[in-house]
Amino acid sequence: MINSGAIRSARGAVGVISVASVIINALHTIQNLLRQRQRQRQRQRQKEDRLPVEPGLQSSSEDRPPGPQSGRGPRPGQLLTHSSNICHKFPLFPLYEKASAAGVITTGNCLIVAPTGTGKSYIGRAILEEAVLRGEPGVHAYLVPYRALAAEIYESLLRELDQRGATARVKISTGDHRDPFYPGETDILVSTFERFSALLPSQDLRLGRVVLDEVHLLADESRGPALESLLVRLKTWKRPTSICALSAVVSNPQELADWLGVPLILGSAQDRTVEVEFRCEVEKDIGERLKAEVARALEKGEQAIIFCNSKAASQKVASDLQALVAGFLTEDDIRALSDTAAHAAGDEEEAEDLLKLLSAGVAYHHAGLSRDARLCVEAAFRNRHLKVISCTPTLAAGVNLPARLVVVRDVYRMEFIRGRPRRVVLSTGELLNMLGRAGRPGQVEAGLGVAPVEPDLLDEDELSQLELAIREAKGNPVRSRLPDSFDSFMRFLLAVISDRGEATLEDTAEAVRESLWYHLEPQAISFDRPLQVDIMEDIPSFSKVNGSIRLERAWPVSDGVAGSVVSGDKIYNFSLTIAGEECSCPAKSKWRRRETCKHLACAIYTLLFDDTGIVDEETRNRALYASAHRFRKTLDLGTKIKVAMDILAAWGLIERVPGGFRATGVGAIAANSGLDLLLSRIARDRVLNYAGTPSPSDVASWVTEDFFGDETKREKWLRAVNDWVGETPLKKIKLPRPRPGFLPAPFIVTALISSGARVSMSCTMS
Ligand SMILES: [Zn+2]
Repeated sequence: MINSGAIRSARGAVGVISVASVIINALHTIQNLLRQRQRQRQRQRQKEDRLPVEPGLQSSSEDRPPGPQSGRGPRPGQLLTHSSNICHKFPLFPLYEKASAAGVITTGNCLIVAPTGTGKSYIGRAILEEAVLRGEPGVHAYLVPYRALAAEIYESLLRELDQRGATARVKISTGDHRDPFYPGETDILVSTFERFSALLPSQDLRLGRVVLDEVHLLADESRGPALESLLVRLKTWKRPTSICALSAVVSNPQELADWLGVPLILGSAQDRTVEVEFRCEVEKDIGERLKAEVARALEKGEQAIIFCNSKAASQKVASDLQALVAGFLTEDDIRALSDTAAHAAGDEEEAEDLLKLLSAGVAYHHAGLSRDARLCVEAAFRNRHLKVISCTPTLAAGVNLPARLVVVRDVYRMEFIRGRPRRVVLSTGELLNMLGRAGRPGQVEAGLGVAPVEPDLLDEDELSQLELAIREAKGNPVRSRLPDSFDSFMRFLLAVISDRGEATLEDTAEAVRESLWYHLEPQAISFDRPLQVDIMEDIPSFSKVNGSIRLERAWPVSDGVAGSVVSGDKIYNFSLTIAGEECSCPAKSKWRRRETCKHLACAIYTLLFDDTGIVDEETRNRALYASAHRFRKTLDLGTKIKVAMDILAAWGLIERVPGGFRATGVGAIAANSGLDLLLSRIARDRVLNYAGTPSPSDVASWVTEDFFGDETKREKWLRAVNDWVGETPLKKIKLPRPRPGFLPAPFIVTALISSGARVSMSCTMS
């Protein structure tokens, strides 16, 4: 608005120049349009050149039914008409036969646990297509963990429905596609778990069938609780007509099926048509091991995929392997690859180093590449000229490539909790999903998957468990992650209250009883037991605390509590935050993350039970928020619920009403956002305490300030966010993809959207 005012006042003075500049601009626009058109045509031609492969391979969707030896599966439409004669011409793939015989294509209810490459996703899609063909009412949803996978499923659904002659309104809603979603105009919705969770409260949303892919992510440390919450909300509130859950790797499938209340369909390695071997070994020099494995594969004329945990790492690995791989190229390869590189050259400026690598027979592949560049890399690999791809795990979700060797270079990923990095070891499920890219049916005859593990990353027990699980291609048992963080537990309760409008303590307990946590660990829930002193039994080091250790000071920080502890003549600083706990004593630095030193034990005790007035209520609440998940063994579940509700109420996310509790405006936003609850609470205070109307830029700045403890990062983010906010109309806020080096986090977007909803927030907040 400021800009348009400025332009108006300056208009007279620059009249002549404006006319000239209008003409110049128009010329530029036309020129750009022409160039764009040209580029589009060029791309289209390249695509046609590149992808004349058989239709069965054109889309790279995972779990295409492994067809007869040719690798070209029976046409999906034919498979589905299992009552017709056509099916007898092709051997149906075993898992589909099993599912069909059990009647689940018709009922839509099942948990399918089967190795990768057996056709699970195909069955999931068939269940939804069947519903559309039968004209079953409601929105049928296919939910996946990754955007790339959502796009693959979406395209497969469109193609398959088309082949079956069905007209259906298929929509996709992920972070990449923020088109408005109207339940009344949607037959099938493809979405990510998180996005769908946020859409769930839409009042006119009536659910038909729901398919959830990769359901073993329930056991994922960061995404598990939200998925579990989503499933409980589906089971108890927005009940779909059926639930179909899919997973490659779960070692306790019956428990999971019982919890979901659906029949179990088990696939086995025999349902795969390719022999694969998986290995997990300790390796000191992973870089050297990687080169040795790749060289061995290249000598045999095989191809390799290497999984890395970051885009930067995937680029580095590709360039490290450049010289090695180039030595194995034939003249034919060199010619084909330089053609590919020349074609790709018109596409993206970012791809310059990629072009060089391509010519050497190796390429990287990650979500930062344009879709065209990714397709180009995949096509060159399918044509077998490109020998090695080094990539991030996005390639594991749904891309079929003919690699015989797969190496998972990093068996952990870096998670950022409030901007602080932390190593999270991949679940066996994730690892097997990646290793399972080796030896895809119909593309190679056998596969080898190797996961080298750095020494000291895991303790002996963890390592031997992982080795066993990988060797036998068995996932870990899926257990609930809800008890692992109090933020998750509070968020679970908040979603329950927000969904129902109003809820009593008993209602929330009822929802907890529907959780996987409760299903696997049933326990008494009573509300009359106080937060007891004996919860310190969960922190064994508390017994070492003696009279010489005391809490000196403690204060609230944006992600928990910080303070200092006096021990004899020494002072140690500590922090108790949602990212973990730290103490500056020498013992703590030597210990593993899970263990608590005696200073922290003393601090936790005093923060929770002190009655000398050294700890104020807010500091105590934040200490509970950051540490109450620890009290698992001795603390009653009812007491946990009560403590959580007290904090939610103190933070203005819920309010007490005669019948129980109700979510406040900001609570409802927080329940469906990616923000942690403490951050929502702080943002709420910021909005309330601001004199006047805060702009989106204010809110973005606050969130950035509160989010990052590290000031250098904060500065960088503030600049980037403010630039972005300045350029983006509020209504059109999308993830700012084009800005290189600027990685958006959902919290910024959520904060901005929240600020758009400020009017309703401030009405209900006070
Ligand atoms: Zn300590």
